Amino acid sequence: MNNRIVLLIEDNAMNMELASDLLETAGCHVLKADRAKEGIALAVAQQPDIILMDLALPGMDGWEATRRLKQDVRTAWIPVVALTASVMRGDDNRARSAGCCGYIAKPIDTRHFVKTVAGFMGRERKPVNETA
Ligand code: MN
Repeated sequence: MNNRIVLLIEDNAMNMELASDLLETAGCHVLKADRAKEGIALAVAQQPDIILMDLALPGMDGWEATRRLKQDVRTAWIPVVALTASVMRGDDNRARSAGCCGYIAKPIDTRHFVKTVAGFMGRERKPVNETA
């Protein structure tokens, strides 16, 4: 996960801190936004490798934010993973139809979180100087 850029869009400070600590420990560069509009602006400007999107946000919610990201050619390619505290029947389909590639349930499972995020990112880039 070294040098991967992860954008976290999450309004809960504790969740934000936990997720960013785990990702930073794994070597990621973490961008943070606690509102959708700020998050979208960061996505356009910084072109993160992946976006983790809280669905329940004040103002514009994560569903709408994801739709907007997917409609914009500058951000449509970035995988968006929904973060949701209330996984209900149909949420997976709903998340996918909004443009998310999947979801991660909250509370975050600290043992598997980084691996799960990496899985949504696909194959990791290998550093050029990596030796076998
Ligand atoms: Mn929230």
